[in-house]
Amino acid sequence: MSVYREVLTQYWGYSEFRPLQEEIIESVSSGKDTLALMPTGGGKSITFQVPAMAKEGICLVITPLIALMKDQVENLKAKNIKALAIHSGLSKYEIDHALDNCIFGDFKFLYLSPERLSTDLFKARVVQMNVNLIAIDEAHCISQWGYDFRPSYMKIIELRELLPDVPMLALTATATPGVATDIMDKLGFTEPHLLKKSFERENLIYVVRHTEDKHRELLKIAGRIDGSGIVYVRNRKKTREIAALLNKEGISADYYHAGLRFEDRTKKQEDWQQDRTRVVVSTNAFGMGIDKSGVRFVVHLDLPDSPEAYFQEAGRAGRDEQKAWAILLYSPADEKSVERRISVNFPGLDVVREVYTGLFNYLQIPVGIGKGQSFDFILGEFLSMYKFNALVATSALAILSREGYFEITEEINNPSRVYFIVGRDELYRFQVKNKQFDGFIKLLLRSYTGLFSQYVPIDEHILSRRSGLSRDNVYKYLVSLAGSHIIRYIPKKKNPVVNLLEERLDDKNVYLSSKQYIFRKDKYISRISEMLIYVKSETKCRSQFLLTYFGEKDAPRCGKCDVCLSKNEKSLNQKKFDAIKGKIKELLAGQPTEVLKLVRAVNFDEKEVIFVLESLLENGSIERLESMELVWKQKGRLF
Ligand code: ADP
Repeated sequence: MSVYREVLTQYWGYSEFRPLQEEIIESVSSGKDTLALMPTGGGKSITFQVPAMAKEGICLVITPLIALMKDQVENLKAKNIKALAIHSGLSKYEIDHALDNCIFGDFKFLYLSPERLSTDLFKARVVQMNVNLIAIDEAHCISQWGYDFRPSYMKIIELRELLPDVPMLALTATATPGVATDIMDKLGFTEPHLLKKSFERENLIYVVRHTEDKHRELLKIAGRIDGSGIVYVRNRKKTREIAALLNKEGISADYYHAGLRFEDRTKKQEDWQQDRTRVVVSTNAFGMGIDKSGVRFVVHLDLPDSPEAYFQEAGRAGRDEQKAWAILLYSPADEKSVERRISVNFPGLDVVREVYTGLFNYLQIPVGIGKGQSFDFILGEFLSMYKFNALVATSALAILSREGYFEITEEINNPSRVYFIVGRDELYRFQVKNKQFDGFIKLLLRSYTGLFSQYVPIDEHILSRRSGLSRDNVYKYLVSLAGSHIIRYIPKKKNPVVNLLEERLDDKNVYLSSKQYIFRKDKYISRISEMLIYVKSETKCRSQFLLTYFGEKDAPRCGKCDVCLSKNEKSLNQKKFDAIKGKIKELLAGQPTEVLKLVRAVNFDEKEVIFVLESLLENGSIERLESMELVWKQKGRLF
């Protein structure tokens, strides 16, 4: 057994690699820079985790999403693998401490958000680490051509100079051929090396429905397809409305969007994941990093911005490799809303400048400073302070982020943390001298372990309950102990953080290249236009359409999407098709029948009968029982 397979079995308990995982692992282990393209759910994490475990040293993992970073670290820890993360939500002390651990402790994984790379603190320490691999997740973020460009990804190339001999593994689930080449170029690959798994999802049936009544259509879908589902809509209000509509019809549903409190979002997500809720109606804030089986349908009520986004969102159905549906509902009015969307996403450059000034005023940063600093950012407060329109301001902030002025993270949910910076002896002396703290210090030590060696998450609420002190007093004790240099105390944080990548510029120096702006706008328009073509096409297999977009030239027809099915029906003379179908229905409605018996009983040309049978199986009119017999489904065909 290869060493990699041993690692896979020992830590993950899996016996086999999935397609392409082993090739990727062997490629990076032989020192080659590698770009790996795998669809969501393909198993990307294993491809850097396994080779890193098989080798001495630590693996750096660059990833933009703090919540996912935390999840991965927890998962590794649960396997007794030492991992940690540094991101904007942590204090300087914590980052310092973590970096030391990476040099002197036997840590195997350091997750970091890309803006950390350019800090002096990080640069000075990383060269002292024994780095065995640099993994770059969501690697498409480095490409201006991609749909999610993040300027801080451009800093990754600086790692090359610091760690010239360490191979890079770039990973993404969404890259057109142009973006793939750009990624390898921007990361300074010694030579291009691309490993790609086909994005074909054989169990996923793509369907587009043209309808004036999307609500009715949705109810029909949720009523006829069993299992969990996700419904994507574009605005927050609609998430509530559609969830209410489903509930009214007896379909258990909940809504989700980024404006909800963290606790609520976690609860909603868990309810769905544990099958307490069947359907989640959400904006595109839902689904990142979700790995749930039993998702049988993803319905889009509004047109997604790009095939990339659609493919990712639709792909959340059927991750368990069982049959699932990706359905897009379209009405002619949607085309008009596309126009509106373009103008909201690309407000005039003067508006963008106003938002720039507003942001720095809000942060109270004068011209000439701010570079490298991070601040809490409460969007609602910012908007109401400056009376900006939410959609326009959000777009302007996104444009400024892409220009590289700053980055705004997702909401960070960090508990409060405490770390004793004095040893036990010194603490004892302090307790003797300061009797008023004695009880509280004892409470802390009784409640948590490890306080002398690391930052430990604490909960002021629990401390208050245990001590009988008010929350306010608990807080005061903690702050005083920190003031006396006994502990370090980092209060909990929930807001997004804005990281300033550049100092504040004088208003007239805020440079927004209109060439770039037009370039991005054009790209946006061409991507959304592709989606329009996707929904309007009546001849191209849906799966083939998406695969061609992602550069797969010889993708086969799927034979199951709405286009393929209607072609199937047309390819057989409709009258004959209906006649065979009628006969099948008549036979199966009576009793479940074994397939060969059925084919013989229909009494038409065998090939044609099989053809019709397959179509009916695909569109859900017929079902195969455990006994392998076929039955006619009472609910009838779906599409
Ligand atoms: P991606 O990042 O590509 O979306 P993940 O790395 O999250 O995918 O993996 C998706 C799921 O597949 C995870 O639950 C993971 O544990 C599982 N998985 C990955 N590789 C294997 C394997 N070789 N055998 C079985 N399950 C695997």
